[in-house]
Amino acid sequence: MNKTILHWSYLNFKDVPMDLFLYEDLEEVYLKENYISVIPKWLLNITTLKFIHLAGNNLTELPVDIYMLENLEFLDVSNNELRELPNTLGLLLHLQQLNVSGNQLTELPAELSTMRNLEHLNISKNQLKRLPIQLSECLRLNELNVSDNAELLHIPERIANLPMLQSLAADRCALIYLPAALSKFMNHVRIFHNTAINYIPMVYERFYQSFYDNRQKVTPMPISPKGLFWIRELETNSRLLLPVGTRKVYPVPSAENQVTLYDDCLHALQSLNRHLPVYENTALHRLLPEPYMSAHIINGPIARCTTTNCSSCLYTTYYFMVVKRRGSSSKQLFTCNFCTQYCALQWLSSNVKKYYQLDWKISSDNDVDSISE
Ligand SMILES: [Zn+2]
Repeated sequence: MNKTILHWSYLNFKDVPMDLFLYEDLEEVYLKENYISVIPKWLLNITTLKFIHLAGNNLTELPVDIYMLENLEFLDVSNNELRELPNTLGLLLHLQQLNVSGNQLTELPAELSTMRNLEHLNISKNQLKRLPIQLSECLRLNELNVSDNAELLHIPERIANLPMLQSLAADRCALIYLPAALSKFMNHVRIFHNTAINYIPMVYERFYQSFYDNRQKVTPMPISPKGLFWIRELETNSRLLLPVGTRKVYPVPSAENQVTLYDDCLHALQSLNRHLPVYENTALHRLLPEPYMSAHIINGPIARCTTTNCSSCLYTTYYFMVVKRRGSSSKQLFTCNFCTQYCALQWLSSNVKKYYQLDWKISSDNDVDSISE
């Protein structure tokens, strides 16, 4: 069976030509780089369509009835003038690739969570300040690009930790720290040039190139430092912000050696989440003994144990290490998170030729960096 493909890009069209209706079994249509400002209602009746390429037009909105294109697998509306996306986009259950890069979006609809077949999502070059936690339900998501959202402070750990995610790009955002709960199966990461960041979790080490080293030009954090968990690293005297949700960290070696009941409890709840999204269950949240617990459950594990053959999820309490590469001119600090002292010592003994540990202490709210070069 021959599928019908129309190549109508670069033709100065101001409207989608009605002739489209004449083609039977139309599956793919390329309308790139025209001057189209509206997706007409009649187009939504061509339900054979699987692929629509409308990049570089003048669209200011997507029709609410877009869900009628029930077989759509690919939608590229990048480089248009979209200010918001309709909630009904989430009803495109077969959609595998969505590109809305280069628009003026400030928010994404939480309803995107129903797109269980979504594999590639490009939301770069917009004005997003936050990502909806519900994106974490797009379990097939393989490629996520959020680069060039200049006010995006945080990628929720639950999203960074999606099971199929292999490629993550978040260059030139305003991230205050890099999510350390990445899957160890990630094979492409571009998450640098976030100028408030002064350390790199070890999970990014294999993606790190020295030209990413922006420690020379770290700019002050765009948020108030109060109430967050900081440590001060004593060799370079820098203050490092630990992932939001951190409550206690132990040095290695440590005289204290304990696993908290609180983290065990979160671990158990998190396992339930595999079967039903408990993080959205408000009844459950009311039952929880501590108010902060909801926030921990919603956000998900904040890191994974750096020992590769362990990779346990970490929630609030962990063993923490700051290291530098031996014999390297780079000043870059790398950090490790461990579930137990055992894992920490195991990692250290197999990496002692490559890295050395730096001392740190917990930093209080009053311990603010002096303003200097
Ligand atoms: Zn471990």
